[in-house]
Amino acid sequence: MTVLDRLAIATLPLIPRPVMRKLSSRYIAGETLADALDKLCELREAGFGGILDILGEDAGDEAKARAVVRQYREAAEGVRERGLDAYVSVKPTHVGLRVSEELAFSLYDELAGRLGELGLFLRVEMEDHTTTDATLRIFDRLRAKGRDVGCVLQSRLFRTQADVTGLGEGELNVRMVKGIYLEPPEIAHVDPVPIRDAYVDRSRELLERDAFVALATHDDLLAERLIAVARELGKGKEDYEFQVLLGVREPLWAAWRDAGHPVRVYVPYGPEWRAYSQRRLRKNPQIFRHVVRDVLGRS
Ligand SMILES: Cc1cc2nc3c(=O)[nH]c(=O)nc-3n(C[C@H](O)[C@H](O)[C@H](O)COP(=O)(O)OP(=O)(O)OC[C@H]3O[C@@H](n4cnc5c(N)ncnc54)[C@H](O)[C@@H]3O)c2cc1C
Repeated sequence: MTVLDRLAIATLPLIPRPVMRKLSSRYIAGETLADALDKLCELREAGFGGILDILGEDAGDEAKARAVVRQYREAAEGVRERGLDAYVSVKPTHVGLRVSEELAFSLYDELAGRLGELGLFLRVEMEDHTTTDATLRIFDRLRAKGRDVGCVLQSRLFRTQADVTGLGEGELNVRMVKGIYLEPPEIAHVDPVPIRDAYVDRSRELLERDAFVALATHDDLLAERLIAVARELGKGKEDYEFQVLLGVREPLWAAWRDAGHPVRVYVPYGPEWRAYSQRRLRKNPQIFRHVVRDVLGRS
């Protein structure tokens, strides 16, 4: 982390709410479910699928975790009512992983059951490396119960190759990401080149075993390599899609869409936008640089 990064992070709590709101507004649909559903409708008009994420993490107790699940159920019902092509994506600590693994499993299971009735898919997200084992165990158990769920794997972690091999047989839906959490060099790549190379290798392994792979990235050079791998393996629209974050590099999404690649947009919303933005920026100051560069570039 550079001195400037440290300085930027130290001043984050001092940034006035309206300025922070403006900084965040391109990346967050709004505070309410209605805002998020409107955004999904807009995206549908433009030819993009969606993913709903309620901002927040680390539910401190069971009651808070249960409240999060209630909000996700309402979100899913809203998606169904409006007939949108969207699903929900849920962080393990948001449904109580830090309270207990059993609580998180039972809440994911309850939510997946309701989503199953609505015909909707559920993505179990991946957080920092202290949660990886428990998250994969939860994912395995949900899969074993026949729930329509997917997981996320992070190419920066050395362990990910073994995790790909360790995923059980049967239908599989994996979102591949670089990994947003900066991890120690003992367990993770820290330079961009090996993170990219590992991303391509793991995606290839997943496609070779007939998994559906959600290629979540805004890195155009990486995407070119991934498209080449998909072509080489004879994979089509039913085998992969690109996934992107709301507000990040829209021209790239349009180019992928126009070239015939499916693209799904991650739409975060909720009242916890400020705490969430600050935590994310603290964990990975690179994002702060992206945002500042982007805002300056636009103004
Ligand atoms: C749909 C989706 C779901 C994700 N889920 C998870 C998850 O469950 N767990 C996890 O650890 N990580 C997750 N991530 C984050 C991911 O791990 C990366 O941190 C993030 O995608 C940035 O990496 P990149 O591949 O886009 O490459 P980068 O090299 O970081 O970015 C490529 C270019 O995209 C632009 N850019 C990237 N991110 C931003 C941003 N936030 N704001 C402005 N510009 C930006 C910049 O111009 C940059 O040069 C997810 C990402 C996406 C798109």
